Amino acid sequence: MKRLIIMMCLIFAAYPVNGNTSEKIQVFVSIIPQAYLAEKIGGNHVSVTSMTGAGADVHTFEPKPRQMTELSKAGIYFAIGVEFEHAMLGRLASVNPSLLVVHTDSGIQKIPMAEHEHHGHSDHKDSGDHKDHDGTDPHIWLSPKLAKIQAEAMFKALVSADPNHKAAYEANYAAFIKEADALDAELGNIFSNIGKNNKFMVFHPSWGYFAKDYGLEQIPVEIEGKEPKPAQLTELINHAKADGIRVIFVQPQFSPKNAEVISKSINGQVISVDPLAKDWADNLRQVAQKFKAALK
Ligand code: ZN
Repeated sequence: MKRLIIMMCLIFAAYPVNGNTSEKIQVFVSIIPQAYLAEKIGGNHVSVTSMTGAGADVHTFEPKPRQMTELSKAGIYFAIGVEFEHAMLGRLASVNPSLLVVHTDSGIQKIPMAEHEHHGHSDHKDSGDHKDHDGTDPHIWLSPKLAKIQAEAMFKALVSADPNHKAAYEANYAAFIKEADALDAELGNIFSNIGKNNKFMVFHPSWGYFAKDYGLEQIPVEIEGKEPKPAQLTELINHAKADGIRVIFVQPQFSPKNAEVISKSINGQVISVDPLAKDWADNLRQVAQKFKAALK
């Protein structure tokens, strides 16, 4: 009897109270907003972990040894095309040969990284480590239209990895598409009558796809992924004055120092917008309102 009780204790210790936990697909994503999408589509059949945290500079991030160990037990990796994936996914193939790697940026037409328009190309030879390896803009999650393509890749992968829950994934996916379409329409309305007054200045050019979708133009402070040199800073200040720019947008992952220099020179403001917030939809809504207010 005593032995039976001990055995039962062991069984209960091994299986968490929530019996589903052990059956969940271990999903890894590169950045936090992807977790929003993966959780929307996967619902309670997935457990999602983001490789990078809220304050990380995604472009220079390198996976920790502890994370590589965790990845050896992962079921699916949803890649999005950010820099660190390139080297990591190659290594992962040997760490975890059964891992399903899904390139959710597949089929997305990427645009070049925004650059300050007066900037020459003489710096190209020493371009920083910021850029995606082919020089394209990796910030595709900040467009609801493109998020739908990423969600579709996630949906298809989950159905193929876990066909038993196909109906749930279908319903979740349909709900997400509805949400993304509604958000896209809402953001479109916010910017429907901005006219020619469509330029905003931002330290790190995360908002290229967002700007493209809603008829805006982002002017980056960062040049080739680096802080501007003094002469370039002066040029940016002149540019901001000429365009009537009053706000410099920054994001929590980068130092606001140069943005503050510019904002002082134009008697403007520095406002933070986060491209990596967890609540993807609500964050885009808030960012849109901040951009809109700055365009007035
Ligand atoms: Zn970025």
